[in-house]
Amino acid sequence: TDSDTADEAVRATCDDASTCKRFATSKGYWTDLHVQYFVRQIGERKAPEINRGYYGRVRGMNLLIDAFLKKTQCDCQVVNLGAGLDTTFWRLKDENIMPKKFFEVDFPMIVARKIHHIKTKPPLSKPLIETHSTDSLRLDGHSLDSDRYCIIGADLRDLPALEEKLKKFQINPELPTLFLSECVLVYMTAEQSSKLVNWVADTFPVAMFINYEQKERFLSAGWESVNALDMMTVYSVLPREDVARIERLEFLDERELLQQLLQHYCICWAVKDKLSLGEGSI
Ligand code: SAM
Repeated sequence: TDSDTADEAVRATCDDASTCKRFATSKGYWTDLHVQYFVRQIGERKAPEINRGYYGRVRGMNLLIDAFLKKTQCDCQVVNLGAGLDTTFWRLKDENIMPKKFFEVDFPMIVARKIHHIKTKPPLSKPLIETHSTDSLRLDGHSLDSDRYCIIGADLRDLPALEEKLKKFQINPELPTLFLSECVLVYMTAEQSSKLVNWVADTFPVAMFINYEQKERFLSAGWESVNALDMMTVYSVLPREDVARIERLEFLDERELLQQLLQHYCICWAVKDKLSLGEGSI
């Protein structure tokens, strides 16, 4: 059907994101020790402005993620919506800043592929086993559950099913919870994404939502404070030395192209802090 074809095109975007991240890290824009296990080939060259765009995206997201973990002293959960082949869990494990539990959600088909990579590549499976207390991980084709990492196949447009699955894997609404959506909500209708964002606000009394997207999309209902920075601004506030370092990696002809690209995207984050833990100051 048409909607199956549309969903298939959406699922394919997870390879685009990981392939671009794989390429940029191979050039030295930032370090990701695990993306190679999800995307083996470095693949075709990407234009420098694309690499710089991804650099800003990943650095900007990481800054906010790390700020939340620091604020909550890791006594929190992270839920990565539309996680694709994202490697954040493995980075947090390496940097010793793991939340209590890290959840990932994506379409069952993507989740099955990710589980296959995890099962067959020790650098991916070891951190899960090391942080797991009992002998066996809970595993079936469309989900994997360990003490600190869980991946769930679900459609983000079906909220009752999503809620039920998150409950089944012991999400705790009482814990401060960080939701991530990196280039995900744009694939839903405005109504579907606002329902999702509202459900988070209604269900989690202390939460932060970080969304990377095209501008003019994030909806604020139910959130106490919403911030948005376009990527031009994010790029300009990243540590100068590191930006100078990556700008030396590849020559960029036309700065204007990069500026146009960065202006189309933004990182937004919204916070609610019913228990006054001070999350609002991130
Ligand atoms: N967040 C990852 C990143 O930035 O590297 C992947 C981004 S990729 C552009 C979009 C991801 O969202 C894909 O993995 C896709 O399968 C997932 N996605 C989009 N709509 C979804 C839905 N309705 N339910 C579950 N996953 C969805």
